[in-house]
Amino acid sequence: MNIMTATKSCSRCHEPKPLEAFARDRATKDGLRCWCRECNKASHAAYRAANGAKEKASQAAYRAANHEKRAAYHAAWKAANSDYNAAWKVAKPLYGTWAGMIQRCTNPKHEAHKNYGGRGITVCDRWLTYENWLADILGTLGPRPEGMSLDRIDNDSGYRPGNMRWATATEQRINQRPPRRNIDKED
Ligand SMILES: [Zn+2]
Repeated sequence: MNIMTATKSCSRCHEPKPLEAFARDRATKDGLRCWCRECNKASHAAYRAANGAKEKASQAAYRAANHEKRAAYHAAWKAANSDYNAAWKVAKPLYGTWAGMIQRCTNPKHEAHKNYGGRGITVCDRWLTYENWLADILGTLGPRPEGMSLDRIDNDSGYRPGNMRWATATEQRINQRPPRRNIDKED
């Protein structure tokens, strides 16, 4: 048998090809691969293509999942932070309101004490603590509206739950007006 003319049939493409078209393989009977070089190459390429697509899909899925996780985390962080910022924005200016109330009612050296503590206007025990007062005010009246300040509904009664409202300066002056003025107006 002339080796130059000898052929072998490829078990993949079933074409008879010269022996040089087959790579060596010690494990086979004739010492050559069952598939021709071309078929081997095609098979490897197909495998790489399929695997590459799988790998790409897996990477994309990972990125998508990760992106979602990161987006969710970011959103949660932003929400938590904005809640905190919003709460602080409401609470911070109200501290001055609370401190002023405490001063007027309990500090005889305060310039306005004579109109408050001096005439028996008190702060209820619960409201001597800022956090309690803040929780009650925000819970019942809500945040201070622009241009309004804390007012006692009954001007002769103290700072206590049920006697508070947000009022404009005008409303507060009317509230402080002695009753006889109303009588005057009716005349
Ligand atoms: Zn082949």
